[in-house]
Amino acid sequence: MERQVKLCVIGDPVEHSKSPVLQNAMLAALGLPAAYGTVRVAKEDTAAWLKRAKAEGYTGFNATMPHKLNLVPLVDTLGPDAKRFGAVNSVSISADGTAEGYNTDGRGFLRALLDMGVEPQGRTICLLGAGGAAKAVALKLAEAGAEKVIVCNRTVEKAETLCALDASGVLAPAGFDGESLKRAAGASTLMVNCTSLGMTGTTGQFEDLSFVDCLLSGGGVFDLIYSPAETALLARARRDGLPAANGLGMLLYQGVFALEHFLHEKLDEAAMAKAAREALK
Ligand code: NAP
Repeated sequence: MERQVKLCVIGDPVEHSKSPVLQNAMLAALGLPAAYGTVRVAKEDTAAWLKRAKAEGYTGFNATMPHKLNLVPLVDTLGPDAKRFGAVNSVSISADGTAEGYNTDGRGFLRALLDMGVEPQGRTICLLGAGGAAKAVALKLAEAGAEKVIVCNRTVEKAETLCALDASGVLAPAGFDGESLKRAAGASTLMVNCTSLGMTGTTGQFEDLSFVDCLLSGGGVFDLIYSPAETALLARARRDGLPAANGLGMLLYQGVFALEHFLHEKLDEAAMAKAAREALK
């Protein structure tokens, strides 16, 4: 008998997650029943949840805050990106109860970047931020052949710690003051915002966006934020005539790659992302 697909997203809070809408839309596009729900799991209950998910026959689940780090030592095997980033955002559970942890953020970002017509190979890239998302993006850009990724962060020690994770020497830490940002942008053809500055629900905003004007042509600005759809950073890039993309594509593709892990099959990435994008409208 074929195993039923049973999926969910866990987090605390979790109600805001867009995963049920986009995952159910992709399942529908595949002709499968909408089987993706939401489960609120408290920070201290990650291990208990994993046990329950196995017992209740879940095919897999996505994880958002505060479980991404907790899951790393709890799953039975780790995919290469989850191991490298030290964070798990999706777990697939086999019929025999084996839990495999993956991180699809970096792949999702690279695929969305491709939709923007930008490939990282040989580029110097100005990356803003050094949090969880920045780690996935910076390490993936280094792996994808970027020549240099300048990691600019308010807390410069966090940028240094992130850069030390990559032995290739591609990642270089920098500050977040106006001069440092202008210097990094002036050496780069691509800027990627991985900070939460400008995100709906937060108060932080860039005080001065003149560093965007220093960016070299031939790439553009990618902002991981998708709410609002157009941040002040993206508006400034467009004003300067630079290609600009928000983080919606990354959100969609990381979901597509998670679904591939859950179903153990290769999916049509563009078709799946299109179905999910329509549903989110
Ligand atoms: P995080 O781990 O909390 O990191 C936040 C980053 O923002 C840190 O580098 C932090 O600097 C910086 N920051 C916060 N407030 C700042 C301020 N006032 N001035 C300067 N820097 C500031 O968060 P995260 O998980 O990496 O997420 C970052 C952003 O990416 C969020 O907006 C999130 O929604 C987005 N994201 C999007 C996707 C997608 O699929 N599109 C996926 C993941 C994340 P310090 O280190 O100095 O505190």
